[in-house]
Amino acid sequence: MPELPEVETTRRGLEPLITDRRIVSVHIYKPRLRWEIPTHLTKTLNNQTIRKITRRGKYLLLHFDIGQLVMHLGMSGSISVVSSIEPLKKHEHFELKLDNSTSLRFNDPRRFGSVLWQKPNETLTLLKNLGPEPLSYEFDNDSLFKSSNGKSRNIKSFIMDSNVVVGVGNIYASESLFLAGISPKREAGKTSKRRFIVLTQCIKDVLTDAINNGGTTLNDFSNVDGNPGYFSQILNVYDRDNMPCIRCSGKIKRIIQNQRATYYCPKCQH
Ligand SMILES: [Zn+2]
Repeated sequence: MPELPEVETTRRGLEPLITDRRIVSVHIYKPRLRWEIPTHLTKTLNNQTIRKITRRGKYLLLHFDIGQLVMHLGMSGSISVVSSIEPLKKHEHFELKLDNSTSLRFNDPRRFGSVLWQKPNETLTLLKNLGPEPLSYEFDNDSLFKSSNGKSRNIKSFIMDSNVVVGVGNIYASESLFLAGISPKREAGKTSKRRFIVLTQCIKDVLTDAINNGGTTLNDFSNVDGNPGYFSQILNVYDRDNMPCIRCSGKIKRIIQNQRATYYCPKCQH
């Protein structure tokens, strides 16, 4: 599943290819994604210029003078920019033909992704209650510590809550807690300020590393197959149950928390 680093890598890859490009035509091949792609887009976006591409959480926003196209990759989505004469591939549901004979194509085999429209001065409900961006200054140990106040839930589900901070997915939550030496079972509200100082930095480091690793796949964006590629990032605990911990050589344990797999070292994380 594309997580924040993959989405940010996608944004960086797309930026030079689509910024300032004018849309010549819009094609909706299969409107039924997680929500239906608004049919008015074929008219609304005609002749409009893409001013910039930004990211909020795991949403990508294409900015136009008349509003924003909001895209989410869901479970299996990817976006590529290819020559417009390239034959359409299976699962390419949405296409923006640009004024330089290239096309932005949205591919999503499982169709949990979305392509939505947001008018100027409007914020979609989906984007309204999102917490701070993990790599921004607004996300600091103070704000994280304060929002943990009185929370009896475990710290892993706490940092994965997009109202608390966006984009800390399952893999990155396990990895950040390992680096911070914090047990995923610890109660969020009973975690000290000192631990939050360490954890906040570990979250930033893990995500920054992942994004930097993704940087090596950026060139793929102009390739015909247009796959964004996934990270070859080194994971310390995730998916390593029963394997030796890199710190203490003890065994990494796998447990289920909130229906999601958690990996941690019982010796190093308290
Ligand atoms: Zn260990």
